[in-house]
Amino acid sequence: MSGGSDSKKPDTNLDRAAQLLNEAEFSIALTGAGVSVESGIPPFRGPGGLWTKYGEPPLDGYERFISDPKRAWEELLKPTEDWLVGLRQTLGRAKPNVAHFSLAKLESLGAIGALITQNVDDLHRQAGQRELYEIHGNFKLLRCVGCSERFSFENFPIDVKSLPPKCPNCKELIKDDTVHFGEPIPSEILASCERVSERADCILVVGTSATVYPAAGFAVEIARRGGTLIEINPEPTELTELATIFLGGTASAILNDLSEKILRLHRPG
Ligand code: NAD
Ligand code: ZN
Repeated sequence: MSGGSDSKKPDTNLDRAAQLLNEAEFSIALTGAGVSVESGIPPFRGPGGLWTKYGEPPLDGYERFISDPKRAWEELLKPTEDWLVGLRQTLGRAKPNVAHFSLAKLESLGAIGALITQNVDDLHRQAGQRELYEIHGNFKLLRCVGCSERFSFENFPIDVKSLPPKCPNCKELIKDDTVHFGEPIPSEILASCERVSERADCILVVGTSATVYPAAGFAVEIARRGGTLIEINPEPTELTELATIFLGGTASAILNDLSEKILRLHRPG
């Protein structure tokens, strides 16, 4: 049962949200760390957040990678910084939760045409999301800084005596796919996110504090041009005042109810 199901008003909001999603020409979703909290991955900010626990990570991660890739690779293969060790262990164990599966269901019902995630945890993929744009990368992948080709981290041949690894296609530097602080978002993924958000007349924003740009900007832009913004979060955020509907509660409970309601709209009775 959702936090929204116990009183009349939130339920009405849930019905309205289902209807708006159903009627939209092209809806997209934007997700953040909050959708994976119930998979055991803490967000960065707030109570229990990784930054709260370990302090702020270096804000010049990309610069450090590029200026000394050998050292960055040694750290990547055998992390020593507490926050990185903590994050890697947690990411390795996590499994998709009801929120990820409900979003995949919304896609298969045609209620969502594409999903932009800020998460690097691979959980939307594992839940079966198809039209997926991982704007901050994926921790299971590597990426060539030259030709942008992605490789599976697990299967990429890495010679620890000759770091950093080089791209088999263009011989450029290989780095992890996750977008570090100070690193530009890879242009092809950014272009895809812009393309789907320009087309969208409705956006479902779930579990993001909406403080990281350009991701938050897609929602702001859609709302400003008169599109529908449906927000799901236990707490109000910087986007809430722009929201057409704010559904207060956890991602799994609300998305489960929302996908059930949309299923019923598709199969009345
Ligand atoms: P954030 O940490 O800034 O905010 C998390 C949001 O989730 C908050 O607004 C919080 O109220 C909400 N939340 C908490 N529990 C929730 C729940 N059960 N259901 C729904 N919402 C819930 O996260 P952000 O906005 O995604 O920005 C942080 C940046 O850190 C992103 O760029 C992301 O790349 C990265 N990050 C990723 C992961 C991951 O891959 N799972 C985890 C931590 C941080
Ligand atoms: Zn390359």
